[in-house]
Amino acid sequence: MPSEQILKKYANLIVKTGANVRPGQVVQLTASVEQHAFAALVIEACYRAGARRVNVNWESDEKTRLDFQYAEQEELARVLPWEEEKARQMTDDLPCRIFLESEDPDAMAGIDPEKLSAVTRSRRGVLKRYRNEIEGKHQWMVAGVPGEKWAKKCFPDLESGEAVAALWDAVLRTVRVTEDNDPVAEWKAHTDYIEAKAAWLNAQGFSSLHYTSTNGTDFTVGLIPGAKWVGAGSVNEHNGVFYIPNMPTEEIFTTPMAGQCEGTLVSTKPLCWNSQLIENFSITFENGRAVSCTAKRGQELLEKLLKMDDCSAMLGEVALVPKESPINRSGLLFYETLFDENACCHCALGAGFKEVLPDSGELSVEQAQARGVNNSLIHVDFMVGSEDLAIDGIRPDGSREPVFRNGTWA
Ligand code: ZN
Repeated sequence: MPSEQILKKYANLIVKTGANVRPGQVVQLTASVEQHAFAALVIEACYRAGARRVNVNWESDEKTRLDFQYAEQEELARVLPWEEEKARQMTDDLPCRIFLESEDPDAMAGIDPEKLSAVTRSRRGVLKRYRNEIEGKHQWMVAGVPGEKWAKKCFPDLESGEAVAALWDAVLRTVRVTEDNDPVAEWKAHTDYIEAKAAWLNAQGFSSLHYTSTNGTDFTVGLIPGAKWVGAGSVNEHNGVFYIPNMPTEEIFTTPMAGQCEGTLVSTKPLCWNSQLIENFSITFENGRAVSCTAKRGQELLEKLLKMDDCSAMLGEVALVPKESPINRSGLLFYETLFDENACCHCALGAGFKEVLPDSGELSVEQAQARGVNNSLIHVDFMVGSEDLAIDGIRPDGSREPVFRNGTWA
């Protein structure tokens, strides 16, 4: 197991470099009850950074599973007044939100996907207005903390303790925390590199990207004129504070033009959604919408996902990640999007990010949608990067520029 010293280093990195908690801010921490010890290190780091108050949402895979096994769908779908008030309170506090992910990837295996998606849809429908209200106006970040079941999923041949230690080792490697390094300095160099690549893409002025791979991917996606490519960090528009929403992060992404893509994307890694797996799948798009899909595992779930709402069959993100990413080099499937999405190039079904638009601060979600930013209840990443993925950037005059060759920067 990692030493207390290295765990403190990681907790500190999450709070100072990730969420960048400032004096006087409220922090909303979400963590599994299994992670109470690591959560305590994070809470302490928040208070040391000057947090005014740290609130915690404790979660439990077992509790959630039992809810879905025994409680009625209508009951679970209901957002109680105090839950809504809690969401409303965030619009006053604009808290830093820190999410510690340690979920068992199989936590909801065997639960009716219809029940899961119906409950998710109706709860998000009620709570979305509060989320929209704080969007872009607060700092947030997601980091992984190995739990026992998650570790056993990644290392099925090891006994529990060894599996947890092995997953900790992999997680700390991907977030650049070692016994004797200065992770804050490493992250500065890493984010500078990502920002240089994003600046190059922004200077090219591509209007579309064309993806090809021998696995069958042949796909063209339109980009929003003037939309930025961004990576690594974001700025809280409310207070100007720079923060890093995901650790690890290797991607440079933008929001494509909703309704403008054609062709087929073939997945290159399994997708874990609502704690269930979708594997070996492909999605075919026409006029910007997914019109068909096939999956060796989880076909029904994938179809449900595409039908979550009017816009869940359209794309909200395209992201570029070279195959040299430490997540990819680990050779490990983490069964957790936070890690797996940083292994290779990916796209996301559902909501786009309005922050990529140049004047996003003043735009409502509806105005951003009119400019081409997809608006949906879901945002689900799926991996399409392969060893031989080629991506060409196409400019408005039709000229082409290689962006990716053989799975990495051309
Ligand atoms: Zn992404």
